[in-house]
Amino acid sequence: MKRKVYVTRKLPDVIVERLSETCEIRMWEEEERPVPREVLEEEIKDVDGLYCLLTEQIDAPLLDRADKLKVIANMAVGYNNIDIDAAKERGVTVTNTPGVLTETTADLTFSLLMATARRIPEASEYLRNGEWKTWSPMQLTGQDIHGATLGIIGLGRIGEAVAKRAKGFDMKVLYHNRSQNREAEGRLELHYTELHTLLRESDFVCVLTPFTPETKNMIDKEELDRMKESAIIINTARGGIVNEKALYDALKEKSIWAAGLDVFEEEPVSLNHPLLSLPNLVTLPHIGSASIATRMKMADLAATNLLDVLAGGDPPNKVV
Ligand code: NAP
Repeated sequence: MKRKVYVTRKLPDVIVERLSETCEIRMWEEEERPVPREVLEEEIKDVDGLYCLLTEQIDAPLLDRADKLKVIANMAVGYNNIDIDAAKERGVTVTNTPGVLTETTADLTFSLLMATARRIPEASEYLRNGEWKTWSPMQLTGQDIHGATLGIIGLGRIGEAVAKRAKGFDMKVLYHNRSQNREAEGRLELHYTELHTLLRESDFVCVLTPFTPETKNMIDKEELDRMKESAIIINTARGGIVNEKALYDALKEKSIWAAGLDVFEEEPVSLNHPLLSLPNLVTLPHIGSASIATRMKMADLAATNLLDVLAGGDPPNKVV
């Protein structure tokens, strides 16, 4: 008998075909709308596997409805959308997709850093709006990237990949983690600092930690106040690590120069969000890993994880 699997969003055909070889698949077919909670509550009741995205909140009440569930395969490296303790208590394996998205997310992080520093979206709008009347010495001037100091908060896989790109721009790279990574320091010429030193000395701050109770609002008013007036903060990790109210105040008062965000506390972000009214903010709709090749790799890796657990084996990316 085939195992039953629920997939919470339309996947590429090749992935569905792979899953269908050994599993009976039911799938939420819409691409632009997440599965409603009440649908998921019904669908999860009799399945052995759940293939989900970061848009689904997998919590204890939901898991209590899933008597047969053995595996939750999340198509993301971050898994803050899943109550890991609740899954563990119920003997449900949770998997994620690390590694395959590292370089693509680092590309996007560096793109956002450059777009923010050189005001690229604003300059493009300026031209399209017919505001470009002449060349002028200080028109649309930004911040230099080459030779600047970059501070990386959360030097893991993606943080290291961002540091490598920064080296190509002759940047000095500082980092802060809970634990010092001497091996990476030697290989990439990095400098370990306390958080406050990093904030004080960096021209660019990139946030790349997971979202956990410890990192929630890790960058708040006090931390933003320590940054240079010319500094830029980039968050491509998760919304909620940088306090949005404090960031709004800092950008509005120009106590920092600009910010680039790929992620928000509430996604999709409301068009009425105060941050969106600010000219010194560059925003993206959570597209860190969004290259065609990488999304295919993520989808395939999540399928491997799910199928391995259902076959009684060890998946490559077990969280618990
Ligand atoms: P990773 O390899 O686990 O790296 C995370 C780093 O954060 C580790 O080096 C860790 O070092 C550090 N860290 C954890 N808690 C910390 C804390 N309280 N204070 C300071 N540093 C802390 O993860 P990754 O693959 O690089 O991914 C990082 C995050 O990026 C993911 O969790 C995900 O949420 C996000 N992400 C976003 C997108 C997007 O589309 N925007 C795409 C991919 C990933 P220590 O343990 O030594 O502290």
